[in-house]
Amino acid sequence: MAIATINPTTGETLKTFEPLKDTEIITKLDLAGKSFAGYRQTSFVERSHWLEQAATILDQEKADLGKLMTLEMGKPLKAAIAEVEKCTLVCRYYAENAPNFLADVPIETDASHSFIKYQPLGVILAVMPWNFPFWQVFRFAAPALMAGNVGLLKHASNVPQCALAIEDIINRSGFPKGVFQTLLIRAAQVANLMADDRVKAATLTGSEPAGISLAVASGKQIKKTVLELGGSDPFIVLESADLETAVSTAVTARMLNNGQSCIAAKRFIIAESIADTFEKLLLEKFQALKIGNPMAADTDLGPLATPDILQELDEQVKNAVKSGGKILTGGHPLTEMLGNFYPPTIIIDIPVDTPIAQEEFFGPVALLFRVPDIEAAIKLANDSPFGLGASAWTTNTEEQNRLIQEIEAGAVFINSMVKSDPRLPFGGIKRSGYGRELSIQGLHEFVNVKTVWVK
Ligand code: NAP
Repeated sequence: MAIATINPTTGETLKTFEPLKDTEIITKLDLAGKSFAGYRQTSFVERSHWLEQAATILDQEKADLGKLMTLEMGKPLKAAIAEVEKCTLVCRYYAENAPNFLADVPIETDASHSFIKYQPLGVILAVMPWNFPFWQVFRFAAPALMAGNVGLLKHASNVPQCALAIEDIINRSGFPKGVFQTLLIRAAQVANLMADDRVKAATLTGSEPAGISLAVASGKQIKKTVLELGGSDPFIVLESADLETAVSTAVTARMLNNGQSCIAAKRFIIAESIADTFEKLLLEKFQALKIGNPMAADTDLGPLATPDILQELDEQVKNAVKSGGKILTGGHPLTEMLGNFYPPTIIIDIPVDTPIAQEEFFGPVALLFRVPDIEAAIKLANDSPFGLGASAWTTNTEEQNRLIQEIEAGAVFINSMVKSDPRLPFGGIKRSGYGRELSIQGLHEFVNVKTVWVK
């Protein structure tokens, strides 16, 4: 894929970038390695100050940064600005809490003094996706930099200007030179990076094939990875649920980011007794959404980020229909519009045992399934190769406890949509990946947990 800004609303190529040559990559790796030697000696007070500065810059420039995101990948501007605001939260959260999370932990043993010490690993590579171009990077960078690591960013090829803007913000925040660098490189150049001694670990958010490729390259070098991959999150609604709120939330949870979120609700699993009403309300709300220019304040749904994503989604919907699914609304790309537009779509009656029912639909398409009871709901929810998040709606506490206990996912949200929050760990199980981001768990992914024993 070319490294370029291509406006998904118009298809216009606005700016292209040459990928870095091997010699340029070496120069940046040298700088990263040298920076680490000095940066690891800096104090928490200094690092917190720099991260606070980053939050201030993000706050001051959120309108322009939001526009840049919308221009490159098409999310509605209001959501892009909200994303920048969320980045300020994660910066401030780690600026305040990381010193405690990384403090020595005394452990009583038969030594005269024994404790756990957390130390940085070194240069960490972050391979990031375009769907949350700022949030994905800051949720890696804030804890990694607070821990004393140095970051290298290989961002998705369609958001190069976001990638450069993030590097610029971190530099302007006062962090020493080379502590965070953007590498404009192709995906095929990542494996070589992992083979470089200076790179100690990596994190990747993206698709399964990309995760596998990074895990193989890292495995060959015995280097740690964190993988945040795809999801096909269930959204379960049982009979006692507050149906109005559940339906409104279902729309938000599916349409967030033009339907391109890993934790978007993708499979709606509804108790038979309320399914007709749920379906009718969802249909009304999907049809009321305003599709159009993502820069406009009243747009609910912008274009998909690239023509390839549009094509893939279109093929998946066609396959779903071939497998027995019925379209209630939408179902075809909006070819009369210039960019990569796909309408809100609802598919019912897909047989649960067809391969397409197991796939992730990365766009504004909801798959609706009906189940007789909670038993069947849990079974269907777990019948997925993925295990990222799950949202379940019921006011019955016994049912809530069962759902919390039995759903196979990295997160279960009861009577709420799945969301990320700096205070809570985020990540998946099964083919959704491994490791955690955010919270104390995310901070501890890229540190040496050193045991110290003094006799
Ligand atoms: P993608 O193609 O895997 O791209 C993600 C990143 O990986 C990009 O920087 C991409 O670079 C790079 N990449 C692709 N192939 C690679 C390879 N073989 N080796 C190394 N790097 C490689 O993902 P996408 O399709 O753009 O993003 C959507 C996927 O990400 C969905 O499955 C979604 O669920 C998942 N996602 C997960 C989370 C989470 O937290 N779990 C969050 C957001 C998205 P290029 O752009 O240059 O190809």
